[in-house]
Amino acid sequence: PDLFGKDRRNSRGWDLTCQSDLAAITAARKPHMTAHFHAGPLLAGKVTGGTSYDARNPADPTDHLGEVTQAAPEDVSAALASARAWNADAATRAQVLNRAADLYEDHFGAIFAILAREAGKTQLDAVGELREAVDFLRYYALQAQSLDAPARGVFTCISPWNFPLAIFTGQIAGALATGNAVLAKPAEQTPVIAHFATTLLHEAGVPRDVLQLLPGDGASVGAALTSDARVGGVAFTGSTDTALLIRRAMAEHLSPDAPLIAETGGLNAMIVDSTALPEQAVRDILASAFQSAGQRCSALRCLYLQEDIAEDVEKMLFGAMDELRLGDPWHLETDIGPVIDNDARDQITEYVAQATSDGRLLHRINAPSDGYFIAPVALRVTGIKAMTREVFGPVLHIARFRAADMDRVIDDINASGYGLTFGLHTRIDARVQHIVDRVRAGNIYVNRNQIGAVVGSQPFGGEGLSGTGPKAGGPHYLHRFTRTSVDHSDQ
Ligand code: GLU
Repeated sequence: PDLFGKDRRNSRGWDLTCQSDLAAITAARKPHMTAHFHAGPLLAGKVTGGTSYDARNPADPTDHLGEVTQAAPEDVSAALASARAWNADAATRAQVLNRAADLYEDHFGAIFAILAREAGKTQLDAVGELREAVDFLRYYALQAQSLDAPARGVFTCISPWNFPLAIFTGQIAGALATGNAVLAKPAEQTPVIAHFATTLLHEAGVPRDVLQLLPGDGASVGAALTSDARVGGVAFTGSTDTALLIRRAMAEHLSPDAPLIAETGGLNAMIVDSTALPEQAVRDILASAFQSAGQRCSALRCLYLQEDIAEDVEKMLFGAMDELRLGDPWHLETDIGPVIDNDARDQITEYVAQATSDGRLLHRINAPSDGYFIAPVALRVTGIKAMTREVFGPVLHIARFRAADMDRVIDDINASGYGLTFGLHTRIDARVQHIVDRVRAGNIYVNRNQIGAVVGSQPFGGEGLSGTGPKAGGPHYLHRFTRTSVDHSDQ
């Protein structure tokens, strides 16, 4: 197969400025905007089922979009006992995953509706998310056909709520393309889209004992799925703290060679120097810090503005922030939807209140009072050193620096210990080279925004506290799902 040529097929796009695409989206979403969904364990055998709760729409908590049944401990045991590696050849597996990609695209109406109602995704974000999921399926399906390495066995895949379709699907597709069995635990906040996607994967032909879904919380289901010797590896995206807990559990219970593939947090910076084009920088700062309500691990958290232009850029930025529209994510004019739940809203609100009482508030706009909305906010900060943790919301910290201090700024960014994304706006080529050579970050973006890595073009992942690699959507990802290192042809 030709990864960069004739065999590569991109996801289909939806043009949100095109009337016929918009009409198609509105019509296809409609029946699913009021539908009631059920999500629960999908196992090879009988389901026992644990406690249940209502899935709620974060933009409108009175909208109960479905009922969720968590996996009972018996379900976890049954899944572990019945999980079987996929004994079809690579070409057959690829065919099934490609069929799943087609099914995802066929069901765009339901997917867009669920992403809006369960995860608060704006239409723009929902399109990006569906495309990324489809790209993962097709990219790994294609790539796996030229890998000749045995599967590891059973993979546990634990995915986050902020990319509840794309990352959920990417982990699973990586494990399945290489012939592993998957036990998937979606985030508690987003089991409905995970359930929907799993039924499509089964419909495409993934056997039920090869892919099983176990909704539940980290402390019970997640812990059980990462501390059982029958598990051959874990793919995880979420917080750095949880990744460390998983690593400990794996060290104690799993085989010493079982890999952890973790994508975790970030404290991402952008540097804008005095040669940057302010209009362009402002547009890219807005997208990097506030799109998806700042709920991306790639999002910009600390903006460094060179002193000479800081005042002008801030003025333009605050004016542009005032134009952002917050509201129901399914309305096409909405720029920013809600944060994921009440806990997230409370934590971010408390953080912003503390910063405000410390006199660090620079600018904020208004947010709707119903639903879990947080108004985008800009806070003054002396630098990234003053930030102790990732605030997962539309909160931008702004620092100023003098040209002579550029290298110190880069040292400070590196010293945070994280290394996920980094943005740079400058028109001096030599400076690009100088900075890119020094900054330690998985994804570096120059004169553009720093979110939205594209599968196969911008492999995504960080270093240090931000993750283990290999990068998702890149040429090395699948190897970790195989036993390449013990390939018997070496002997
Ligand atoms: N891949 C996403 C991006 O490039 C971020 C993934 C995440 O937030 O976990 O924006």
